[in-house]
Amino acid sequence: MVQKKEGEVKDVGKVAIYPGSFDPITYGHIDIVERGLEIFNKVIIAIAENEEKRPLFSVEERLQMVKTFFKDTTNVIVDSFKGLLVDYVAKTNAIVILRGLRATSDFEYEFHMASMNRSLNTHLDTLFMMTSKDYFFVSSRTIKEVAKLGGGVEGLVPDLVVRRLKEKFKLPVAKKKQIGWDD
Ligand code: ADP
Repeated sequence: MVQKKEGEVKDVGKVAIYPGSFDPITYGHIDIVERGLEIFNKVIIAIAENEEKRPLFSVEERLQMVKTFFKDTTNVIVDSFKGLLVDYVAKTNAIVILRGLRATSDFEYEFHMASMNRSLNTHLDTLFMMTSKDYFFVSSRTIKEVAKLGGGVEGLVPDLVVRRLKEKFKLPVAKKKQIGWDD
């Protein structure tokens, strides 16, 4: 970072990688990206292809949702990766892994992952950003659970994601049939 004049700090082309499942992307994630862009010139959202996690959305679906949301944000790159994060990071010019932290429950997992990544690549640091007061309770998992049961998740995920969740859980179709709109 370069101090320009009093109170103004200019970054010097630094890139952060924000990895995660993004299954699906929420406004909690988006908040971290937007705040990350206050610090870094570019944020690469790296969607992990990890079938062991049995994602609801395929990598292609997740890529499409994230790319659509950030289509007008030129300093956000959206990509996916398989395998070790440190190997993917090495192929980019990123200097930092960006992660979000919610309650203490996130801490242990994040601490272990950051420590492991640093042990695999001693030059690689992880920067944590605290969740915002509006999104501390938002996780992809709870969004899916609520949406599956027909609960409203508007305002917690982008509208496109609301629609995709409804399609996945066949909510509008069931509702239409129930009240005979297809007749
Ligand atoms: P992963 O499966 O790697 O944990 P997630 O998509 O669940 O991927 O999360 C990616 C990152 O975003 C993690 O660091 C997670 O803690 C953070 N994150 C998720 N939801 C929020 C939120 N509401 N506020 C802040 N950070 C969040």
